Amino acid sequence: MNAESLVLKVEQLRELIERYNEAYYEHDAPLVPDSEYDRIFRELQALEQKHPELLMPDSPTQRVGGKRLESFASVKHALPMLSLDNAFTTEEVINFGKRILDRFKSLDVQPPSPLMFSCEPKLDGLAVSLVYENGLLMRASTRGDGFTGEEVTENIRTIRAIPLRLKGQAPKRLEVRGEVYMSKAGFEKLNTAQKKLGQKIFANPRNAAAGSLRQLDSGITATRPLMFFAYGVGVLEEAILPDRHSKILAWLKDFGFPVPELDRAVEGVQGCLAFYQEVLAKRAGLPYDIDGVVYKVDEIKYQNLLGFVARAPRWALAHKFPAEEQLTTVEDIEFQVGRTGVLTPVARLATVCVGGAMVSNATLHNIEEVHRKDVRIGDTVVVRRAGDVIPEVMSVIIDRRPPNAQIVHLPKTCPVCGAEVFKLEGEVAARCTAGLSCPAQRKEALKHFVSRKAMAIDGLGDKLIDQLVDEGLVHNPADLYYLKLSSIVDLDRMGEKSAIKLLAHIEAAKLTTLARFIYALGIREVGEATALSLANHFGSLEALQAADVDTLMAIRDIGPVAAQSIAEFFHVPENKKVVQDLIQAGLHWLSIEVEIINDNPFKDKTVVLTGTLQKFSRDEATALLQKLGAKVVGSVSKKTDYVIAGAEAGSKLAKAESLGVPVVDEEQFLKMLA
Ligand code: NAD
Repeated sequence: MNAESLVLKVEQLRELIERYNEAYYEHDAPLVPDSEYDRIFRELQALEQKHPELLMPDSPTQRVGGKRLESFASVKHALPMLSLDNAFTTEEVINFGKRILDRFKSLDVQPPSPLMFSCEPKLDGLAVSLVYENGLLMRASTRGDGFTGEEVTENIRTIRAIPLRLKGQAPKRLEVRGEVYMSKAGFEKLNTAQKKLGQKIFANPRNAAAGSLRQLDSGITATRPLMFFAYGVGVLEEAILPDRHSKILAWLKDFGFPVPELDRAVEGVQGCLAFYQEVLAKRAGLPYDIDGVVYKVDEIKYQNLLGFVARAPRWALAHKFPAEEQLTTVEDIEFQVGRTGVLTPVARLATVCVGGAMVSNATLHNIEEVHRKDVRIGDTVVVRRAGDVIPEVMSVIIDRRPPNAQIVHLPKTCPVCGAEVFKLEGEVAARCTAGLSCPAQRKEALKHFVSRKAMAIDGLGDKLIDQLVDEGLVHNPADLYYLKLSSIVDLDRMGEKSAIKLLAHIEAAKLTTLARFIYALGIREVGEATALSLANHFGSLEALQAADVDTLMAIRDIGPVAAQSIAEFFHVPENKKVVQDLIQAGLHWLSIEVEIINDNPFKDKTVVLTGTLQKFSRDEATALLQKLGAKVVGSVSKKTDYVIAGAEAGSKLAKAESLGVPVVDEEQFLKMLA
């Protein structure tokens, strides 16, 4: 890059960052995800580092936050409120540790070994300063540009987690610094309410917290679910600050402040990295958003020695988690046909790493959503993937739309079978009308039928089902039970051994429970819980098949839509036939409802059956125990864990008693199954 284009590039990056800062800090409405902002910010930082002559004191890399809103009174911070340096990789964290040691060396200070760090989660909200005088909250302000913030005392007073009066012996003056944030649940609730009122929708909990705190009417702030935790101290008069950061947190807790949960003092950078992994594993399950963890040199005297650079302390680092939102481009939008024929638009994306996983597809839910979000082929979009949730296209970056971006319409015919696509007035879902004659629906219905919570047929993966349908070997679930070795042995990646195994799995799965069977049928609106309610209520398939809408609606948890759908299902001749064929193929269930779960008292136990059971035949009981993970054997020994004894049990029972093996009668057996 020549000098001129370098200057131009730096200028462009600064302008872009200023624009993004304004939207984010002043309007609480980001234009791009944080990952994109961080990428540009780092690009500028790298250029400035390589060409120090281009570094200006007013560059965004040298400043904290954005402008203060004029509508709030301004508050000058007695001590500046800085930002944090950040790291995205292990290497950057190791370098942080090295920089600290180098600094100590240049100061001619022997660092302690190990150097202790206080580790905390980095909750994503906004920083505030709270000034207490003689124990009373006198003034609260936002971080603003780090030197001057906005006065938000009245708004802060509405946050219940923030004490108005300190507990215990209060210092003359104490400035507490911490983060105002919103929980994930609070954020969802707020956005739902905002939507109903036709008001601004917030992009994330961070922006929602900032937007809620920076209200001119504190009555509005009071209605917002804001929370707080303290993570540091600014000014302190007439009191002695504890000598370690970790102790300061405990000290603040005693004054009545919530402090970061999960915080811990660790040894060295390795301890920090272990903490990172631990918190990352908990991230999805936490009730609040965290975008990383923060490491702080624990001893305050070392913090003071290390000091600050332009916008951040040298003794602290924010180690960011993989971003849950990324930018990518939409290469195509296709329609997938689901089990019930619903057409779901799916964006095919340029592959991108989101939340630590590679993502190349994201759901768009339905055509109305595609149009509402105005997603077009060629667009640059924000993709979100949090925890195990399916990746989703959140929004479009309109600025980056190419002129040839292509609008997508709902297809008139099914992209798989060509049948007509039908959309009921008022319904969002559009469906292929072909039912089970559509290969896509057939495949999805089969995948559902064999799935873990339905028939739980091991070894029948999606690819195999696709082949079975494509080869015309299976048209409906009952066909699975008539598969022959000769017809499946030549399928892709099969072979004789796997084919024999697969047939054995299919055979073994013939014994099931009524609830699983009902669920496996894939009746619309009937999930696992509803299937269980139906099985428990009716006790037999015949009774369920005979039930009308009113009878069904009388069952708890079954509403009019589900009742209609169930009754209709059993009236359709094709469905009746599939059910009949399945039973004829040998599917059967126990006369009692037993939920087959992994964690059960018979798992990995050796069991002997003897005598006659009332509720099960011997074969059924054996198959059931095997499903539960037990080994069923014929004779009693010291190694036997249980003898299940029905009526008229004979010598095996006597032997069990003489060896001290636990004996379980049918009633106890049923209780254990429950
Ligand atoms: P930051 O959020 O990366 O880190 C500093 C802040 O972390 C502190 O001010 C404090 O508020 C907070 N924090 C949370 N937990 C803490 C703890 N335990 N101890 C200390 N501080 C803690 O930095 P920043 O300067 O507030 O914001 C910069 C970041 O904001 C960027 O990296 C970017 O991710 C985001 N941003 C995004 C856009 C956008 O357009 N999307 C624009 C501007 C900024």
